[in-house]
Amino acid sequence: MFEKLLSLIGVKRQRQEPSENKKKHKRCKCPICTEPIAKCVLTSCGHTFCEYCLEQSMIYSSSCPLCRKKIIRTSSIPCKSIDSYVYSQLSDKQKESYVLRMRQIAKWNEEKKLKNTKVGMKIDALDTEGVWCSAIIRLKIDNGEKDPFLYVHYAGWDSSYDEVISESSYRLAPAGFYTSKNIPKYRMGSIVGVNDIGN
Ligand SMILES: [Zn+2]
Ligand SMILES: [Zn+2]
Repeated sequence: MFEKLLSLIGVKRQRQEPSENKKKHKRCKCPICTEPIAKCVLTSCGHTFCEYCLEQSMIYSSSCPLCRKKIIRTSSIPCKSIDSYVYSQLSDKQKESYVLRMRQIAKWNEEKKLKNTKVGMKIDALDTEGVWCSAIIRLKIDNGEKDPFLYVHYAGWDSSYDEVISESSYRLAPAGFYTSKNIPKYRMGSIVGVNDIGN
């Protein structure tokens, strides 16, 4: 009835343009993998990515992949409401692959956790410069109800770099989880990016 009235007075109700729809979907896509954002995280500079994609990017650079501002890992916030929104916008077929991706991320999150830690165990540790290094557990410190603290020694560095890190910290992973991959490493005291390795 309302439509009819409008057409009588020569006004056509504006439909949502297809380009608007496209824009809406584009906003829900991760700028790194270009897929619908899975496990969305918001960085301190206000950009959103898949948690997995941002973590992979941070192995190589601590800057935001979009605006290049420095990202402080601990200030990135998970956005569950965006996850629900993204999911609600997907077709049935997209939902299938989205669930599959979520499962792969959960598996990856599980695999990078340290398990059955003990003194003398080799691990991967993210140093304060943001580089994954081979390290060794020198001491395990009981922390009551909470996760134990680990006294970590970086292999090949003197003990002044040793650190005490919580066992569940994102800065620790099983040996080789990161360091076996072609990631930035130290050479002669400076950080060498993947593109430089082997040159
Ligand atoms: Zn992504
Ligand atoms: Zn940014």
